[in-house]
Amino acid sequence: MKVLVAVKRVVDYNVKVRPKSDGSGIDLNNVKMSINPFCEIAVEEAVRLREKGVATEVIAVSLGDKSCQEQIRTALALGADRGILVETDAELQPLAIAKLLKAVIEREGVQLAILGKQSIDGDNNQTGQMLSALAGMSQATFASKLEIADGKATVTREVDGGLQTLELSLPAVVTSDLRLNEPRYASLPNIMKAKKKPLDTLTPAELGVDVTPRVKTLKVSPPPERKAGIKVGSVEELVDKLRNEAKVI
Ligand code: AMP
Repeated sequence: MKVLVAVKRVVDYNVKVRPKSDGSGIDLNNVKMSINPFCEIAVEEAVRLREKGVATEVIAVSLGDKSCQEQIRTALALGADRGILVETDAELQPLAIAKLLKAVIEREGVQLAILGKQSIDGDNNQTGQMLSALAGMSQATFASKLEIADGKATVTREVDGGLQTLELSLPAVVTSDLRLNEPRYASLPNIMKAKKKPLDTLTPAELGVDVTPRVKTLKVSPPPERKAGIKVGSVEELVDKLRNEAKVI
């Protein structure tokens, strides 16, 4: 069974992002970029499936400009077998990404696609859902446990107030939640080995996908500045301030 993992290049989660001065987007100059944390969890899950002998091959796919090779190499260092970069300088929105992933899945004969539940830059939470609909694949989002047996995937999802367990027929799309696993660190020897693993490049045109954006960003602005807090000396003072200044009790 071939497993595809989609890995997105995003601003590192430790970076405090700044909007551009003209409000047209986020300023990416000299900003540290990383693999989206939920995608790292997806890679770990796929690699564990291969280590258990359930998956035969793990293919890491990223879509974007040339620099996304870096995130594919990270996925290869974490244990993926080979990478595919769908290279374009165009702005890619979730619908276009889902169409491109569908085309790669069909080309490769993938049985299971593991995506992150959300990218931490766009916060879209759309790609996995769109992909499953377009490709006619079963879908389980926000997975906190995944088991594959007898041609079926059993997925536990964290839902409000408890856990939901689903059985999916393959081929399927699963999106990873935070508690699915704890990703390993890439060791130095594995980082070196990853440099020799195959990484192919395709283009949207080769995959026959029109990636023209359908949604226009009108403005990106920072949240309003919060006023500095104060320290109170006693519970009495706190209650007094809540009652007479904030007027919330
Ligand atoms: P989103 O719908 O943008 O929140 O993204 C959900 C998941 O879709 C991500 O965690 C990735 O697994 C996948 N994905 C989104 N954009 C890309 C991209 N440009 N390259 C590879 N995977 C992506």
